[in-house]
Amino acid sequence: MLDSNNNDQMFPTLVVGSLPREEWVLDVIKSRNSHDLSSEEADRLLDGAVLSAIKMQESAGLDYVSDGEWRRNSYLDTFFDNVCGYEPDLIPPNPFSSGPVPAIVSKIVQQRSLTTDDARFLEANANGKTIATLPGPATVGGKMWSPEHSTSVYSSPEEAMETCIPIINGEIKKLSRLGIDLVQIDEPWLGDVINPRYREFHGIEDMDRELDLYVNGVNGAVEGIEEVSLSLHVCGHTSITNQDTDQCQFDSLFETLSRTNVHRLTIAFAGPHRDGVRWLKNFPEDKIVGLGVVSTIKKGIDSPDDIVERVERAMEYIPKERITLNPECGFAPSTRNRPDLDEVYIKLKTMCLAAEILREKYA
Ligand SMILES: [Zn+2]
Repeated sequence: MLDSNNNDQMFPTLVVGSLPREEWVLDVIKSRNSHDLSSEEADRLLDGAVLSAIKMQESAGLDYVSDGEWRRNSYLDTFFDNVCGYEPDLIPPNPFSSGPVPAIVSKIVQQRSLTTDDARFLEANANGKTIATLPGPATVGGKMWSPEHSTSVYSSPEEAMETCIPIINGEIKKLSRLGIDLVQIDEPWLGDVINPRYREFHGIEDMDRELDLYVNGVNGAVEGIEEVSLSLHVCGHTSITNQDTDQCQFDSLFETLSRTNVHRLTIAFAGPHRDGVRWLKNFPEDKIVGLGVVSTIKKGIDSPDDIVERVERAMEYIPKERITLNPECGFAPSTRNRPDLDEVYIKLKTMCLAAEILREKYA
């Protein structure tokens, strides 16, 4: 499954997707969603904002840029804005989520394309390579299935997820045809399954069955897709370099990830827990690692040398040709942290400087 991504150089740099937005951008999204602003006027304003998000990433030196996910509140809204069957905020927040999420209340039916217009704009305005993201089927199908609200429509999370697979598969095909260079599937809770506290909270008795659900979802979503590089984002909640995740079964996670038919996997890697790096010995040999070397939660900026050191630790287990650099997660506003855009710019620029140092050192 290994794919070079057609990268011209070693240690390519990418975002995970979202960037923090200025208050006025959030206001435009809010006014559009409440119909106080026409979608045409909102698009005109957001086009300008997205252009600056692209330029900001290019100025930081990133090899792949996104649209900052600045046209919507959350990465999930890509799906919920364009697919009916959901009612917002029905599933309350829990220690493993940053806010309430929608529940499935009726048949899941796609109304419009999820990403085509956004991707077309990104392709037309980015100088270099592009990355676009989509939420994965286990997230929008399985995680949004609720025994209370969804049973009359779909008998199980698996059944709801099966309905979402062709929608996401179709969208990846469209992104590929539009010329997007890397499509990333976001399954933020996949990594949490190996955390015993998460399983206890959600009453998951069979960890392997739950992990299989994610594998089946991802592999269904990417079936028949060959023209575009594919990435899977496993969120930074579960990091091999955080001490509080020491109880997690990373060998099971990497075994699971080895069965997904994607080229690249992101791993959170900016924590202080140095011993955790040993888990990388289990990292699938046929995959590229998206090494999350910049924290999206921690305030303050690491030096390029700190980042270089993190990468060098990973290089004890993964050859340099298979290493790409990215932040641990997206930077969009969340209840966990709402970083300043300038700070994020400097974080990204520092990551790109670290990549330069590594290229000179290991050319
Ligand atoms: Zn994430």
